[in-house]
Amino acid sequence: MTIKAYGATAADKPLESMNIERREPGARDVQIDIAFCGVCHSDLHTVRSEWGGTVYPCIPGHEIVGHVSAVGGDVTAFKVGDVVGVGCMVDSCQHCDSCAEGLEQFCENGFTGTYNAATPDAPGYTLGGYSQRIVVDDRFVLKIRHSAEQLAAVAPLLCAGITTYSPLRHWKAGPGKKVGIVGIGGLGHMGVKLAHAMGAHVVAFTTSESKREDARALGADEVINSRNTEEMGAHANSFDFILNTVAASHSLDAFATLLKRDGTMTLVGVPEHPHPSPDVSALIFKRRSIAGSLIGGIAETQEMLDFCAEHGVVADIEMIRMDEIDKAYDRMQRSDVKYRFVIDNATLAA
Ligand SMILES: [Zn+2]
Ligand SMILES: [Zn+2]
Repeated sequence: MTIKAYGATAADKPLESMNIERREPGARDVQIDIAFCGVCHSDLHTVRSEWGGTVYPCIPGHEIVGHVSAVGGDVTAFKVGDVVGVGCMVDSCQHCDSCAEGLEQFCENGFTGTYNAATPDAPGYTLGGYSQRIVVDDRFVLKIRHSAEQLAAVAPLLCAGITTYSPLRHWKAGPGKKVGIVGIGGLGHMGVKLAHAMGAHVVAFTTSESKREDARALGADEVINSRNTEEMGAHANSFDFILNTVAASHSLDAFATLLKRDGTMTLVGVPEHPHPSPDVSALIFKRRSIAGSLIGGIAETQEMLDFCAEHGVVADIEMIRMDEIDKAYDRMQRSDVKYRFVIDNATLAA
């Protein structure tokens, strides 16, 4: 079927309206009419080929929510009209050890990304959520239990939400734990909300005084200006866990030294230029760890969505029309968004 989409034909071209093909639903497929799609930094990096390897035309978007409009004959978990989501993955090998453990994001044969990943479908690589409709294997479709009016604000949970939820769970954020969130952007604002909902004592780190009140409103118990060395020093050796969402190259030591013995700081952003090598002695003398984490598996993504529905957690969003995407990218690069743009996919029809 032919549908409308919005994408880039080259790294240096603005996004434009175009028609694309979607496969007819197979036996295990769910066809989704997309209502909203969140705008992730990965979309921008990919359309501009900042990570290399982008195939054009490129249709980004991996924070997808919408309604089921058809299902294949073998699909039992979903029916027409269901409210569903699709995140960063649309397939994986399904037979490696990681897939067997429900950790499809670490598929040893490489998961299939929702856009710019090889697929048998035309045109040979996946096309994302800046489009009217998507067809996805039912194992990669998530159920959404939030109320209907929250749907747009649910979209960012599919990438920003799970990227922060998974490490918070893995490193056991919860009551009695002091948890730091570095960077209050698309990812960080979700980190603050989720860590707060999990019952942790949440400390937000920001470089701008103007974000203090905002961070508190999101659920932070304390806010630290990370440029204020006195303020930073007062928290030395006190954190159980720090989730660092900042992708720009920066000194990790300033945060690592705030960890208690056996504490961990987990990075979820890939810097364009490497971070300076951390001070090894600061790690050795307190058995501290610096770790990484990548989105989350499908089962955990469902767990995160259910947790958020139960606790009333959604993203703070700014809705845009599809044709406002380039302006949104420019603002995103200046961190001028609170805290996630979400596209109203109905505007694709205009
Ligand atoms: Zn993303
Ligand atoms: Zn696998």
